[in-house]
This record gives sequence, structure tokens and C-alpha cells, in this order.
Amino acid sequence: MRKSKIKRNLIITATTVFVVICAVAVPLAVRANIPSPVYVVALDAGHGGIDGGVTGIKTGVKESDLNLIIAEKIEAHLLSADIGVIMTRRDKEGLYGTTEPGFKLRDLQKRAEIITRGRATAAVSIHMNFYPSETRRGCQVFYNKDSSSSKYFGELMQGMLNKRVNANENGRNYEALSGDYYIVRDVPCTAIIVECGFLSSPADERLLMTEEYQDKLAYNIFSGILAYLYTA
Ligand SMILES: [Zn+2]
Repeated sequence: MRKSKIKRNLIITATTVFVVICAVAVPLAVRANIPSPVYVVALDAGHGGIDGGVTGIKTGVKESDLNLIIAEKIEAHLLSADIGVIMTRRDKEGLYGTTEPGFKLRDLQKRAEIITRGRATAAVSIHMNFYPSETRRGCQVFYNKDSSSSKYFGELMQGMLNKRVNANENGRNYEALSGDYYIVRDVPCTAIIVECGFLSSPADERLLMTEEYQDKLAYNIFSGILAYLYTA
């Protein structure tokens, strides 16, 4: 082999090694610089697919659709605060797999599995309420009756929503209520349910369908989550 050819081959080999090292090393370096979030919050948009939840008394709007809209808005706030987010669903489908009998339980089990696998610090399940009387209105929070941290989170969230939403929108002042609900009971983190309003109330339904009110709810639920994360 001639000297110049050997030199050329050495340059080509060196260049190849450099490119390969960069290809491996640069992504590793970039990954190492991304801080993993201190907190991870699971957002669970209740219902979906054949289970639309409750429906609006005037318009027939599905609870499942409103739950997803509000969960996505809360997600945006959390991400902007560098808080990790796990969404149990991102589209209109349920999580039950097939519609065979027992789909409701399968749906809840799947949600609990996603929250557990994601190692969330806290979980908030978003729902809409319904009541026989059209005059019942406002945000209501439920916590796990067997968990003191869920009670603490639930009371903080209810206080936040009473002050910043219920007080000026509907005049209600609710206590957070305990319950034996699968989604707050069968997950390893502190979990609550936020019922954002009553679809049995024409006044709440009208508000819940406006982007302005959805934004107001999402921002204040986000504030309630921050209050819990920073004081728990
Ligand atoms: Zn619901």
C-alpha cells in the first residue's frame, strides 16, 4: 500500500470513529442534562368510550369529554411548572379493552395500573357531578376515607376551589367528603377526586362548556395540587 493511501485510510477511520463516538455520546450527554422532575402527578380524566359518565341536562354534553378537556388544561400548567405528568387517557376512548361485562371494573383497574406504574406522587381524578335537584352547584372534592394524606389533599383542594371558584361563581362552600372509591383507594399515591360541577344544573352546565370557566377550573385545580405538593 502506498504511503498516501495509508494516510487517507487512517483519516477515514479516525473520522468514522469520531462520528460514532459523537452519535453515542451526545445523546447521553443531553439526557444527563435533563433534570428528572421532583414530582410526578397523575391526571385521570374519568370515563370514556361507551362510558360517557353523566350528561348535561340541557345540551347532552358528555362528562367524559369535559373531563378530558380540563385534565389537559391542568397538564399544561403542571408541565410549565416542571412537574411530571401521567395522563390515564389522552383520547375519547375508555380503558376497558372490550365491552364485555365487567368493563367498568377493567377500566378502573387499568387507570390504577397506569398511575402505579408511573410512580406518581399524587393523583387527581377529574369528574362532573349530577344531582336530582337542579339547584345543586359547584366544585366538590372527595378523598379516600382510609388515608390521612388523601384527606389533607382533599381539604386543601376543596378550600382552594371554595375560595377561588365556588365563592364567586355559585356561592357554595362545601366540605371535602370521604368515600370508598376505587380510583382513590387502589393506587399507591395520595389521590383525590375533583367533581368540577353539576351537569344536572343548567347554570353549571352553561359555565362548564365555556373555555373561560374551564381555564379557571384548571388553573385553580393546578394551584390546589401545588399547595399539596409543597406542604405535604
Ligand atoms: Zn364521573
